[in-house]
Amino acid sequence: MSDFKGRVAIVTGAASGIGKQIALRLAAEGAIPVIADLNLDAASAAAKEIQALYKDKSGADAFAVAMNVTDEAQVEKGVADTVAKYGKVDILVSNAGIQIVKPIVDFPFADWKKLLAIHLDGAFLTTKACLKHMYAAKYGRVVYMGSVHSKEASKLKAPYVTAKHGLIGLAKVLAKEGAEYNVSANVVCPGFVRTPLVDKQIPEQAKELKISEADVIKHVMLKDTVDGQFTTTDEVADAVLYFAGASSTALTGQSMVVSHGWFMQ
Ligand code: NAD
Repeated sequence: MSDFKGRVAIVTGAASGIGKQIALRLAAEGAIPVIADLNLDAASAAAKEIQALYKDKSGADAFAVAMNVTDEAQVEKGVADTVAKYGKVDILVSNAGIQIVKPIVDFPFADWKKLLAIHLDGAFLTTKACLKHMYAAKYGRVVYMGSVHSKEASKLKAPYVTAKHGLIGLAKVLAKEGAEYNVSANVVCPGFVRTPLVDKQIPEQAKELKISEADVIKHVMLKDTVDGQFTTTDEVADAVLYFAGASSTALTGQSMVVSHGWFMQ
């Protein structure tokens, strides 16, 4: 594993689920995760939990910032506060996201725009805010949280699939623009992970598809995996830390699918 000691890593949406596990794992390696989340109370609780677990062991600090990733001023402030406190930002994990399921024919335009804003505007704004510091330091590792839905489609998820495909485009452009500054960009693409985001969808999909919740899990979510297993937050964190700790930019622009074989490239 790479040396994360002293690395400052902004992780958006890190108060819950996958982002929180990424923050925990970074701290375990000695990095300083900045928990940037809409939900400041939960972000502060996660930062406290991380400090209690790792401050003595790895020396890791953790910092909570209130950040709605769709709000440019809040994003700029969260990044500026991080740099004011720690002097730099080495890693960005753009992870905040939501899910809304509906067929296209019924999809409210407002929900389409909301979902695209969180996933795409959020990735753009956080990247832009971090880049000036990364370029100045000639170091940066940017990891976007994609999905199998960055490469594959499912019914009911038009804006999510659209946004997750879009992140691959953003990462490829950043890979080109960031190269001369030693800034890499990658996308991690998980299959279904049992987090609040997925727990909320199970009854919603059951209702839309007129099947039971057990059938949503077995015959929709895990149908194409090789082992009928959910992907875990730790398995996703493994892939994120692999890219975030890369010692060179050789892998820049690449995406990695972590899905128990649901999608094979
Ligand atoms: P989650 O609901 O557990 O956590 C999402 C976090 O994002 C929450 O803490 C929430 O407060 C935060 N958030 C939401 N909107 C925000 C905003 N506008 N600004 C800042 N923070 C905001 O979800 P999760 O399952 O951990 O999902 C994390 C990421 O992983 C998302 O991008 C999601 O699309 C992606 N993903 C999840 C799965 C899965 O099966 N759970 C699979 C593939 C990809």
